[in-house]
Amino acid sequence: MTTTNPFATATSWVEGATGSLYDLDNLPYGIFSDRDTTRKIGVRIGDFVLDVTAAAQATNQPFADVLDSDRLNDFMASGKDVWHQVRTWLTTLLSDESRAAVVVLRPLTDVTLHLPFEVADYVDYYASMDHATNVGKMFRPDGDALMPNWRHLPVGYHGRAGSIVVSGTDIHRPAGQRKAPDQPAPTFGPCQRLDIEAELGFVVGRAVPFGERVGTDEFADTVFGVCGVNDWSARDIQSWEYVPLGPNLAKSFATSISAWITPLDALATAKVPTPEQEPEVVSYLVENPPMGYDIAVEVELNGEVVSQPPYAAMYWSPAQMLAHMTVNGASLRVGDFFASGTISGPEKQQCGSFLELSWGGSEPFTASGQTRTFLEDGDEVVLRYTAPGARRRIALGEVRGKILHTI
Ligand code: MN
Repeated sequence: MTTTNPFATATSWVEGATGSLYDLDNLPYGIFSDRDTTRKIGVRIGDFVLDVTAAAQATNQPFADVLDSDRLNDFMASGKDVWHQVRTWLTTLLSDESRAAVVVLRPLTDVTLHLPFEVADYVDYYASMDHATNVGKMFRPDGDALMPNWRHLPVGYHGRAGSIVVSGTDIHRPAGQRKAPDQPAPTFGPCQRLDIEAELGFVVGRAVPFGERVGTDEFADTVFGVCGVNDWSARDIQSWEYVPLGPNLAKSFATSISAWITPLDALATAKVPTPEQEPEVVSYLVENPPMGYDIAVEVELNGEVVSQPPYAAMYWSPAQMLAHMTVNGASLRVGDFFASGTISGPEKQQCGSFLELSWGGSEPFTASGQTRTFLEDGDEVVLRYTAPGARRRIALGEVRGKILHTI
């Protein structure tokens, strides 16, 4: 797999960018504001944000209009050719010092980052076999860990798009109905088993009308980029409410995503085949071969890394999840978003949820000298993601969130 970045060997004149996790082969997009509070499109280089909106206007780029926005949606909707043109143009700007005069760079510490795109619909999948098996063992100890459908289709549910928030947003502990199996009736109050789910998210940049299926071979034409996701989960609310229609309030109070959307081109060198899929999938899910990403995830709790889930272990590929969303004729809108489900590997220290790390709360773990099963008020979680880039490792945007007292 070769990168489509034609400047893979160029170096950036931006101080500190070369050799960093945000070098020229990365260039993720986000929405920022600085002193005048106007939201603009930015691209990250090193520890700086380049004002993409201003640079496109200053140089009269043909795509300047779609870059003059407070969200990425118009840029995404302009299509894959424009995605490539903009990336090539930015690579030139940031590698050719003679063009530095048109570039406005702001230190990351001087800007506020916002939700990078307006979220249309949101589907959350359940694509890790290790996670699904662990949850099945805990919730259904007497039955098969995997449900009969699990190896035949990527199981998912429709999430709440309106409560997707940007990294750094504080999260109030949700309240709701909770009922332990040994209690006769539910009680109402603050969630007592507040959890994380470390996931990867995919942003749709192409509208597709009703009645058209998106094939697994159309993934790169349809998905604009990738981001980190923390699907905050209230386990006690979930276990009482989810039968028989799936999660609702246990998930809808907040889902955090990174402020940066990493273009697929930056991850071309991170593509790896998924683990073998057995049995063979039905025709619309065929991908030769199914391709995942070699993205290493770190779950940090109060400053200490407590788990390192490997995205490469995920069973269902992103292209298969995308094909599944439209096989029934459902349309796609620019800004549709789907997430992978909890990323867990086969080892204990590779689990992407505290439910698994503490085995349902029965095996406490320690973070920075404190014992935990689920989240306490004041706890802060940071998810970090790195992948092999065209040169060295690159990073996706972190996903940070702190737990506040209950609503
Ligand atoms: Mn989830």
